[in-house]
Amino acid sequence: MIHEQSIREILTSLDNKQYSCRELVDHFIARASDADPNLNAFITDTYASARNEADHMDKLRSNGTAPPLAGIPIAHKDIFCTRGVKTTAGSLMLDNFVAPYDATVVEKLSAAGTISIGKTNMDEFAMGSSNENSHYGPVKNPWSEKAVPGGSSGGSAAAVSARLCVAATGTDTGGSIRQPASMCGITGIKPTYGRISRWGMIAYASSLDQAGPMTKSAEDAAILLNVMAGYDEKDSTSANQTVPDYTQSLNQPLKGLKLGFCKEYFGDGLDPKIETAIQTALRQFEAQGAEIVEVSLPSSKHAIPAYYVIAPAEASANLSRYDGVRYGYRCEDPVDLEDLYKRSRSEGLGDEVKQRIMVGSFALSAGYYDAYYKKAQQIRRLIKNDFAQAFEQVDLIIGPTTPSTAFSLGEKTSDPISMYLQDIYTITSNLAGLPAGSFPVGMEAGLPFGLQIIGNYFDEGRILNLAHQFQLESDWHRLTPEATT
Ligand code: GLN
Repeated sequence: MIHEQSIREILTSLDNKQYSCRELVDHFIARASDADPNLNAFITDTYASARNEADHMDKLRSNGTAPPLAGIPIAHKDIFCTRGVKTTAGSLMLDNFVAPYDATVVEKLSAAGTISIGKTNMDEFAMGSSNENSHYGPVKNPWSEKAVPGGSSGGSAAAVSARLCVAATGTDTGGSIRQPASMCGITGIKPTYGRISRWGMIAYASSLDQAGPMTKSAEDAAILLNVMAGYDEKDSTSANQTVPDYTQSLNQPLKGLKLGFCKEYFGDGLDPKIETAIQTALRQFEAQGAEIVEVSLPSSKHAIPAYYVIAPAEASANLSRYDGVRYGYRCEDPVDLEDLYKRSRSEGLGDEVKQRIMVGSFALSAGYYDAYYKKAQQIRRLIKNDFAQAFEQVDLIIGPTTPSTAFSLGEKTSDPISMYLQDIYTITSNLAGLPAGSFPVGMEAGLPFGLQIIGNYFDEGRILNLAHQFQLESDWHRLTPEATT
Protein backbone atom coordinates (compact mmCIF):
# COMPACT_ATOMS: atom_id res chain seq x y z
CA MET A 1 0.00 0.00 0.00
CA ILE A 2 1.24 3.47 -0.90
CA HIS A 3 0.56 4.86 2.55
CA GLU A 4 2.78 2.23 4.17
CA GLN A 5 5.76 3.14 2.03
CA SER A 6 8.77 4.99 3.37
CA ILE A 7 9.86 8.29 1.83
CA ARG A 8 12.69 6.47 0.03
CA GLU A 9 10.27 3.88 -1.38
CA ILE A 10 7.83 6.57 -2.51
CA LEU A 11 10.59 8.49 -4.28
CA THR A 12 11.66 5.30 -6.07
CA SER A 13 8.06 4.57 -7.09
CA LEU A 14 7.71 8.11 -8.44
CA ASP A 15 11.00 7.76 -10.34
CA ASN A 16 9.78 4.46 -11.82
CA LYS A 17 6.46 6.09 -12.74
CA GLN A 18 4.46 3.56 -10.73
CA TYR A 19 2.25 6.51 -9.84
CA SER A 20 2.38 10.26 -10.34
CA CYS A 21 2.69 12.95 -7.64
CA ARG A 22 -0.95 13.78 -8.35
CA GLU A 23 -2.05 10.18 -7.77
CA LEU A 24 0.05 10.06 -4.62
CA VAL A 25 -1.43 13.25 -3.22
CA ASP A 26 -4.96 12.19 -4.21
CA HIS A 27 -4.45 8.91 -2.37
CA PHE A 28 -3.64 10.70 0.88
CA ILE A 29 -6.37 13.31 0.41
CA ALA A 30 -8.88 10.49 -0.02
CA ARG A 31 -7.67 8.87 3.21
CA ALA A 32 -7.75 12.16 5.10
CA SER A 33 -11.23 13.10 3.82
CA ASP A 34 -12.45 9.72 4.89
CA ALA A 35 -10.89 9.51 8.35
CA ASP A 36 -10.69 13.07 9.54
CA PRO A 37 -14.31 13.86 10.29
CA ASN A 38 -13.85 11.32 13.05
CA LEU A 39 -10.23 11.86 14.10
CA ASN A 40 -10.25 15.67 13.96
CA ALA A 41 -6.51 15.73 13.23
CA PHE A 42 -6.77 18.72 10.89
CA ILE A 43 -7.92 22.27 11.56
CA THR A 44 -7.62 23.42 7.94
CA ASP A 45 -7.17 21.36 4.81
CA THR A 46 -5.23 22.60 1.81
CA TYR A 47 -6.36 19.91 -0.62
CA ALA A 48 -6.93 22.27 -3.54
CA SER A 49 -3.46 23.84 -3.41
CA ALA A 50 -1.95 20.40 -2.74
CA ARG A 51 -3.45 19.07 -5.99
CA ASN A 52 -2.07 22.04 -7.94
CA GLU A 53 1.36 21.61 -6.42
CA ALA A 54 1.26 17.91 -7.24
CA ASP A 55 0.54 18.69 -10.90
CA HIS A 56 3.40 21.16 -10.85
CA MET A 57 5.77 18.59 -9.30
CA ASP A 58 4.76 16.08 -11.99
CA LYS A 59 5.85 18.62 -14.62
CA LEU A 60 9.15 19.22 -12.88
CA ARG A 61 9.69 15.49 -12.58
CA SER A 62 9.10 14.96 -16.28
CA ASN A 63 11.55 17.67 -17.28
CA GLY A 64 14.18 16.53 -14.79
CA THR A 65 14.18 19.63 -12.58
CA ALA A 66 12.27 18.28 -9.59
CA PRO A 67 13.58 19.08 -6.09
CA PRO A 68 14.69 16.09 -3.97
CA LEU A 69 11.41 15.39 -2.12
CA ALA A 70 9.09 16.34 -4.98
CA GLY A 71 5.57 15.14 -4.29
CA ILE A 72 5.87 13.88 -0.67
CA PRO A 73 2.55 14.65 1.09
CA ILE A 74 3.04 16.14 4.54
CA ALA A 75 1.09 18.29 7.02
CA HIS A 76 2.10 21.22 9.20
CA LYS A 77 1.21 21.71 12.83
CA ASP A 78 -1.01 24.78 12.92
CA ILE A 79 1.65 26.67 14.86
CA PHE A 80 3.71 27.28 11.71
CA CYS A 81 2.81 30.35 9.71
CA THR A 82 1.70 29.44 6.19
CA ARG A 83 1.33 32.23 3.67
CA GLY A 84 -2.28 32.72 2.60
CA VAL A 85 -3.51 29.90 4.85
CA LYS A 86 -5.26 30.25 8.19
CA THR A 87 -2.79 29.74 11.08
CA THR A 88 -4.52 29.40 14.44
CA ALA A 89 -2.18 27.79 17.00
CA GLY A 90 -5.36 25.99 18.11
CA SER A 91 -6.81 29.23 19.49
CA LEU A 92 -9.96 31.23 18.93
CA MET A 93 -7.61 34.22 19.30
CA LEU A 94 -6.13 33.42 15.88
CA ASP A 95 -9.19 31.88 14.24
CA ASN A 96 -9.29 34.76 11.74
CA PHE A 97 -5.51 34.98 11.22
CA VAL A 98 -4.20 34.28 7.73
CA ALA A 99 -0.42 34.38 7.87
CA PRO A 100 1.22 36.82 5.45
CA TYR A 101 4.42 34.75 5.22
CA ASP A 102 5.76 31.21 5.52
CA ALA A 103 7.74 30.00 8.54
CA THR A 104 11.30 29.04 7.62
CA VAL A 105 10.46 25.38 8.23
CA VAL A 106 7.50 25.61 5.85
CA GLU A 107 9.54 27.45 3.25
CA LYS A 108 12.36 24.91 3.38
CA LEU A 109 10.04 21.92 3.15
CA SER A 110 8.19 23.36 0.18
CA ALA A 111 11.43 24.27 -1.56
CA ALA A 112 12.40 20.60 -1.17
CA GLY A 113 9.20 19.65 -3.01
CA THR A 114 7.02 18.35 -0.18
CA ILE A 115 3.32 19.15 -0.47
CA SER A 116 1.26 20.13 2.55
CA ILE A 117 -2.28 18.73 2.61
CA GLY A 118 -3.32 20.67 5.71
CA LYS A 119 -2.71 22.26 9.09
CA THR A 120 -2.94 19.93 12.05
CA ASN A 121 -4.86 20.32 15.27
CA MET A 122 -3.00 21.12 18.48
CA ASP A 123 -3.41 22.25 22.06
CA GLU A 124 -3.98 25.99 22.21
CA PHE A 125 -0.60 27.75 21.83
CA ALA A 126 1.01 24.31 22.33
CA MET A 127 0.02 24.18 26.00
CA GLY A 128 -1.07 20.69 26.87
CA SER A 129 -0.31 16.99 26.83
CA SER A 130 -3.53 15.55 25.45
CA ASN A 131 -4.76 17.84 22.67
CA GLU A 132 -7.87 18.53 24.71
CA ASN A 133 -7.04 22.25 25.00
CA SER A 134 -7.71 22.99 21.32
CA HIS A 135 -10.38 25.51 20.43
CA TYR A 136 -11.20 23.12 17.55
CA GLY A 137 -11.99 20.17 19.80
CA PRO A 138 -9.94 17.17 20.86
CA VAL A 139 -8.16 14.82 18.46
CA LYS A 140 -8.85 11.11 18.79
CA ASN A 141 -6.07 8.58 19.02
CA PRO A 142 -6.20 6.43 15.84
CA TRP A 143 -5.50 3.35 18.00
CA SER A 144 -8.56 3.91 20.18
CA GLU A 145 -11.42 6.35 19.84
CA LYS A 146 -11.55 6.73 23.60
CA ALA A 147 -7.92 7.67 24.04
CA VAL A 148 -6.13 10.98 23.65
CA PRO A 149 -3.38 11.21 21.00
CA GLY A 150 -1.09 13.10 23.37
CA GLY A 151 -0.20 16.74 22.93
CA SER A 152 0.43 19.32 21.99
CA SER A 153 1.27 18.04 18.47
CA GLY A 154 -1.62 15.56 18.70
CA GLY A 155 -3.04 16.31 15.26
CA SER A 156 0.31 15.72 13.56
CA ALA A 157 0.86 12.48 15.49
CA ALA A 158 -2.64 11.17 14.72
CA ALA A 159 -2.36 12.10 11.03
CA VAL A 160 0.95 10.25 10.60
CA SER A 161 -0.18 7.30 12.70
CA ALA A 162 -3.41 6.91 10.67
CA ARG A 163 -1.34 7.31 7.48
CA LEU A 164 -3.24 10.41 6.35
CA CYS A 165 0.08 11.93 5.26
CA VAL A 166 3.63 10.64 5.01
CA ALA A 167 5.06 12.90 7.69
CA ALA A 168 4.21 16.01 9.65
CA THR A 169 5.91 18.84 11.44
CA GLY A 170 5.64 19.28 15.18
CA THR A 171 7.02 21.48 17.93
CA ASP A 172 8.29 20.47 21.33
CA THR A 173 8.60 22.81 24.32
CA GLY A 174 8.42 20.16 27.01
CA GLY A 175 7.62 16.99 25.11
CA SER A 176 5.05 17.89 22.47
CA ILE A 177 6.71 15.97 19.65
CA ARG A 178 7.85 12.95 21.65
CA GLN A 179 4.85 12.38 23.94
CA PRO A 180 2.23 12.24 21.15
CA ALA A 181 4.68 10.26 18.98
CA SER A 182 4.87 7.71 21.79
CA MET A 183 1.11 7.59 22.30
CA CYS A 184 0.33 7.24 18.58
CA GLY A 185 3.12 4.75 17.77
CA ILE A 186 5.22 6.94 15.51
CA THR A 187 8.75 8.36 15.42
CA GLY A 188 9.45 11.93 16.48
CA ILE A 189 12.59 13.87 17.18
CA LYS A 190 13.13 17.17 18.95
CA PRO A 191 16.53 18.39 17.79
CA THR A 192 19.05 20.43 19.75
CA TYR A 193 17.74 23.91 20.64
CA GLY A 194 18.74 26.14 17.73
CA ARG A 195 19.16 23.34 15.19
CA ILE A 196 15.96 24.37 13.36
CA SER A 197 14.86 27.95 12.84
CA ARG A 198 11.95 29.16 14.96
CA TRP A 199 11.14 31.96 12.56
CA GLY A 200 7.43 31.95 11.77
CA MET A 201 6.70 29.41 14.50
CA ILE A 202 4.19 30.93 16.92
CA ALA A 203 6.09 31.35 20.18
CA TYR A 204 5.11 29.61 23.40
CA ALA A 205 8.29 29.56 25.54
CA SER A 206 11.11 30.87 23.37
CA SER A 207 14.05 29.34 25.25
CA LEU A 208 12.47 25.87 25.05
CA ASP A 209 10.52 25.72 21.76
CA GLN A 210 12.00 23.62 18.99
CA ALA A 211 10.51 22.19 15.79
CA GLY A 212 11.05 18.68 14.52
CA PRO A 213 9.80 15.97 12.17
CA MET A 214 7.12 13.39 13.04
CA THR A 215 7.36 10.34 10.81
CA LYS A 216 6.82 6.61 10.51
CA SER A 217 10.51 5.74 10.88
CA ALA A 218 13.92 7.04 11.90
CA GLU A 219 15.01 6.94 8.27
CA ASP A 220 12.14 9.25 7.23
CA ALA A 221 12.97 11.54 10.17
CA ALA A 222 16.60 11.78 9.00
CA ILE A 223 15.46 12.72 5.49
CA LEU A 224 13.18 15.49 6.78
CA LEU A 225 15.65 16.76 9.36
CA ASN A 226 18.17 17.23 6.54
CA VAL A 227 15.76 19.73 5.03
CA MET A 228 14.47 21.40 8.21
CA ALA A 229 17.78 21.97 10.01
CA GLY A 230 20.19 24.82 9.52
CA TYR A 231 21.11 28.38 10.36
CA ASP A 232 18.61 31.11 9.64
CA GLU A 233 19.60 34.74 9.88
CA LYS A 234 15.99 35.57 10.74
CA ASP A 235 16.24 33.61 14.02
CA SER A 236 19.02 34.94 16.24
CA THR A 237 18.89 31.76 18.36
CA SER A 238 19.41 29.43 15.43
CA ALA A 239 22.77 27.67 15.47
CA ASN A 240 25.35 28.61 12.89
CA GLN A 241 26.66 25.07 12.48
CA THR A 242 26.87 22.93 9.39
CA VAL A 243 24.14 20.34 9.02
CA PRO A 244 25.46 16.83 8.47
CA ASP A 245 23.63 14.45 6.14
CA TYR A 246 21.62 12.57 8.77
CA THR A 247 20.95 9.65 6.44
CA GLN A 248 24.69 8.97 6.36
CA SER A 249 24.86 8.03 10.02
CA LEU A 250 21.87 5.64 9.98
CA ASN A 251 23.89 2.57 9.13
CA GLN A 252 26.82 3.01 11.51
CA PRO A 253 27.39 -0.22 13.44
CA LEU A 254 26.50 0.04 17.13
CA LYS A 255 29.73 -1.63 18.23
CA GLY A 256 31.41 0.36 20.99
CA LEU A 257 28.45 2.72 21.48
CA LYS A 258 27.91 3.53 25.16
CA LEU A 259 24.29 3.76 26.20
CA GLY A 260 23.32 5.32 29.50
CA PHE A 261 20.69 3.63 31.61
CA CYS A 262 19.36 6.33 33.86
CA LYS A 263 18.22 4.75 37.11
CA GLU A 264 15.99 7.68 38.09
CA TYR A 265 13.79 6.98 35.06
CA PHE A 266 12.87 3.50 36.21
CA GLY A 267 10.80 3.01 39.30
CA ASP A 268 7.74 4.58 40.82
CA GLY A 269 5.22 5.90 38.36
CA LEU A 270 6.43 3.99 35.31
CA ASP A 271 4.16 1.34 33.83
CA PRO A 272 6.07 -1.97 34.37
CA LYS A 273 5.19 -3.13 30.83
CA ILE A 274 7.03 -0.09 29.44
CA GLU A 275 10.03 -0.82 31.63
CA THR A 276 10.12 -4.43 30.41
CA ALA A 277 9.94 -3.36 26.77
CA ILE A 278 12.82 -0.94 27.29
CA GLN A 279 14.90 -3.65 28.95
CA THR A 280 14.22 -5.87 25.94
CA ALA A 281 15.37 -3.10 23.60
CA LEU A 282 18.52 -2.63 25.70
CA ARG A 283 19.31 -6.35 25.33
CA GLN A 284 18.88 -5.96 21.58
CA PHE A 285 21.28 -2.99 21.52
CA GLU A 286 23.79 -5.06 23.51
CA ALA A 287 23.46 -7.91 21.03
CA GLN A 288 24.22 -5.36 18.29
CA GLY A 289 27.46 -4.38 20.06
CA ALA A 290 26.47 -1.49 22.34
CA GLU A 291 27.52 -1.30 25.97
CA ILE A 292 25.07 -0.33 28.73
CA VAL A 293 26.37 1.96 31.48
CA GLU A 294 24.36 3.15 34.47
CA VAL A 295 24.16 6.93 34.80
CA SER A 296 22.44 9.24 37.25
CA LEU A 297 20.45 12.41 36.62
CA PRO A 298 19.56 13.34 40.21
CA SER A 299 18.09 16.78 39.49
CA SER A 300 15.48 15.38 37.08
CA LYS A 301 13.00 15.19 39.92
CA HIS A 302 12.85 18.99 40.03
CA ALA A 303 12.23 19.36 36.29
CA ILE A 304 8.43 19.62 36.34
CA PRO A 305 8.15 22.42 38.91
CA ALA A 306 11.01 24.33 37.24
CA TYR A 307 9.43 23.95 33.81
CA TYR A 308 6.01 25.06 35.03
CA VAL A 309 7.57 28.31 36.24
CA ILE A 310 9.85 28.99 33.26
CA ALA A 311 7.45 28.04 30.45
CA PRO A 312 4.50 30.09 31.78
CA ALA A 313 6.84 33.04 32.51
CA GLU A 314 7.99 33.10 28.90
CA ALA A 315 4.46 32.46 27.67
CA SER A 316 3.11 35.41 29.64
CA ALA A 317 5.54 37.66 27.78
CA ASN A 318 5.04 36.06 24.35
CA LEU A 319 1.26 36.10 24.54
CA SER A 320 1.03 39.75 25.51
CA ARG A 321 0.97 40.54 21.78
CA TYR A 322 -2.59 39.19 21.50
CA ASP A 323 -4.29 42.36 22.59
CA GLY A 324 -7.13 42.65 20.09
CA VAL A 325 -5.50 45.66 18.47
CA ARG A 326 -3.21 44.53 15.67
CA TYR A 327 -4.53 41.15 14.63
CA GLY A 328 -6.47 38.21 15.96
CA TYR A 329 -9.70 38.15 17.92
CA ARG A 330 -11.33 41.43 18.92
CA CYS A 331 -14.34 41.66 21.23
CA GLU A 332 -17.52 43.35 20.03
CA ASP A 333 -18.17 47.01 20.80
CA PRO A 334 -15.45 47.80 23.35
CA VAL A 335 -16.27 50.84 25.46
CA ASP A 336 -12.65 51.92 25.77
CA LEU A 337 -9.11 50.61 25.24
CA GLU A 338 -8.95 48.79 28.54
CA ASP A 339 -12.23 47.06 27.84
CA LEU A 340 -10.90 46.11 24.40
CA TYR A 341 -7.78 44.48 25.90
CA LYS A 342 -9.63 42.80 28.71
CA ARG A 343 -12.52 41.35 26.79
CA SER A 344 -10.52 40.41 23.69
CA ARG A 345 -8.11 38.41 25.83
CA SER A 346 -10.78 36.96 28.14
CA GLU A 347 -12.95 35.84 25.25
CA GLY A 348 -10.21 34.89 22.77
CA LEU A 349 -7.99 32.75 25.02
CA GLY A 350 -8.85 29.41 26.61
CA ASP A 351 -8.68 28.49 30.31
CA GLU A 352 -5.34 26.68 30.32
CA VAL A 353 -3.69 29.54 28.45
CA LYS A 354 -5.12 32.12 30.84
CA GLN A 355 -4.01 30.07 33.83
CA ARG A 356 -0.45 29.97 32.51
CA ILE A 357 -0.38 33.70 31.74
CA MET A 358 -1.40 34.34 35.34
CA VAL A 359 1.17 31.92 36.78
CA GLY A 360 3.86 33.38 34.53
CA SER A 361 3.07 36.99 35.36
CA PHE A 362 3.07 36.14 39.05
CA ALA A 363 6.42 34.34 38.88
CA LEU A 364 8.02 37.30 37.13
CA SER A 365 6.58 39.97 39.39
CA ALA A 366 8.80 41.95 41.76
CA GLY A 367 9.06 40.19 45.08
CA TYR A 368 8.43 36.74 43.65
CA TYR A 369 11.04 36.74 40.91
CA ASP A 370 13.85 35.48 43.19
CA ALA A 371 11.68 32.92 44.92
CA TYR A 372 10.28 31.34 41.75
CA TYR A 373 11.79 32.38 38.45
CA LYS A 374 15.40 32.62 39.61
CA LYS A 375 15.14 29.33 41.54
CA ALA A 376 13.69 27.63 38.48
CA GLN A 377 16.60 28.89 36.37
CA GLN A 378 19.03 27.53 38.96
CA ILE A 379 17.37 24.13 38.75
CA ARG A 380 17.64 24.36 34.98
CA ARG A 381 21.41 24.78 35.36
CA LEU A 382 21.63 21.75 37.68
CA ILE A 383 19.76 19.64 35.13
CA LYS A 384 22.12 20.77 32.38
CA ASN A 385 25.11 19.92 34.59
CA ASP A 386 23.72 16.43 35.32
CA PHE A 387 23.52 15.75 31.60
CA ALA A 388 27.02 17.12 31.00
CA GLN A 389 28.38 14.68 33.58
CA ALA A 390 26.41 11.76 32.16
CA PHE A 391 27.64 12.52 28.64
CA GLU A 392 31.22 12.24 29.88
CA GLN A 393 30.49 8.56 30.40
CA VAL A 394 28.04 7.67 27.62
CA ASP A 395 27.07 8.59 24.05
CA LEU A 396 23.28 8.39 24.42
CA ILE A 397 20.81 8.06 27.29
CA ILE A 398 17.91 5.62 27.06
CA GLY A 399 14.62 5.91 28.90
CA PRO A 400 10.86 5.84 28.56
CA THR A 401 9.07 8.66 26.72
CA THR A 402 5.91 8.60 28.81
CA PRO A 403 4.96 6.98 32.12
CA SER A 404 2.01 5.15 30.54
CA THR A 405 0.21 4.55 27.27
CA ALA A 406 -2.43 7.03 26.05
CA PHE A 407 -4.99 7.84 28.73
CA SER A 408 -8.71 8.30 28.11
CA LEU A 409 -10.27 11.50 26.80
CA GLY A 410 -11.43 13.52 29.79
CA GLU A 411 -9.49 11.43 32.30
CA LYS A 412 -7.00 14.10 33.37
CA THR A 413 -8.66 17.36 32.35
CA SER A 414 -9.61 18.25 35.91
CA ASP A 415 -6.26 17.21 37.39
CA PRO A 416 -3.53 19.50 36.04
CA ILE A 417 -0.75 17.94 38.14
CA SER A 418 -1.35 14.48 36.76
CA MET A 419 -1.52 16.01 33.26
CA TYR A 420 1.76 17.86 33.83
CA LEU A 421 3.41 14.63 35.03
CA GLN A 422 2.96 13.21 31.53
CA ASP A 423 6.09 15.10 30.55
CA ILE A 424 8.25 13.94 33.43
CA TYR A 425 10.73 12.16 31.13
CA THR A 426 10.70 14.62 28.24
CA ILE A 427 11.00 18.05 29.88
CA THR A 428 14.62 17.71 31.03
CA SER A 429 16.01 17.70 27.50
CA ASN A 430 14.14 20.94 26.69
CA LEU A 431 15.47 22.58 29.83
CA ALA A 432 19.01 21.51 28.86
CA GLY A 433 18.50 22.20 25.12
CA LEU A 434 19.47 18.63 24.20
CA PRO A 435 18.17 16.60 21.26
CA ALA A 436 15.87 13.66 22.03
CA GLY A 437 13.60 11.35 20.07
CA SER A 438 10.82 8.86 20.69
CA PHE A 439 10.57 5.59 18.78
CA PRO A 440 7.85 2.92 19.03
CA VAL A 441 9.01 0.07 21.24
CA GLY A 442 5.91 -1.87 22.28
CA MET A 443 2.16 -2.15 22.71
CA GLU A 444 -0.03 -2.62 25.72
CA ALA A 445 -3.76 -3.37 25.54
CA GLY A 446 -3.87 -2.18 21.94
CA LEU A 447 -2.02 1.09 22.58
CA PRO A 448 1.55 1.86 21.51
CA PHE A 449 4.36 3.39 23.56
CA GLY A 450 7.81 4.73 22.81
CA LEU A 451 11.41 4.54 23.87
CA GLN A 452 13.23 7.81 24.38
CA ILE A 453 16.81 8.39 23.23
CA ILE A 454 18.52 11.57 24.48
CA GLY A 455 21.74 12.70 22.81
CA ASN A 456 24.47 15.25 23.40
CA TYR A 457 24.29 18.66 21.67
CA PHE A 458 23.99 18.37 17.88
CA ASP A 459 24.19 14.58 18.05
CA GLU A 460 20.85 13.99 16.31
CA GLY A 461 22.65 11.69 13.86
CA ARG A 462 23.57 9.25 16.59
CA ILE A 463 20.02 9.20 18.00
CA LEU A 464 18.66 8.39 14.55
CA ASN A 465 21.40 5.83 14.00
CA LEU A 466 20.44 3.89 17.14
CA ALA A 467 16.72 4.13 16.34
CA HIS A 468 17.25 3.02 12.75
CA GLN A 469 19.32 0.02 13.84
CA PHE A 470 16.51 -0.90 16.22
CA GLN A 471 13.90 -0.47 13.50
CA LEU A 472 15.88 -2.73 11.15
CA GLU A 473 15.42 -5.51 13.70
CA SER A 474 11.87 -4.82 14.88
CA ASP A 475 8.42 -4.11 13.51
CA TRP A 476 6.87 -1.81 16.11
CA HIS A 477 7.18 1.20 13.82
CA ARG A 478 5.35 -0.66 11.03
CA LEU A 479 2.19 -1.38 13.03
CA THR A 480 -0.82 0.57 11.81
CA PRO A 481 -4.05 1.20 13.72
CA GLU A 482 -6.62 -1.26 12.47
CA ALA A 483 -9.38 1.23 11.85
CA THR A 484 -7.22 2.94 9.26
CA THR A 485 -5.60 0.06 7.35
N1 GLN B 1 2.83 19.49 28.03
C1 GLN B 1 3.78 20.55 28.12
C2 GLN B 1 3.06 21.85 28.32
O1 GLN B 1 1.89 21.84 28.40
C3 GLN B 1 4.65 20.59 26.90
C4 GLN B 1 3.97 21.17 25.72
C5 GLN B 1 4.88 21.34 24.57
O2 GLN B 1 5.93 20.69 24.45
N2 GLN B 1 4.52 22.26 23.69
O3 GLN B 1 3.62 22.88 28.42
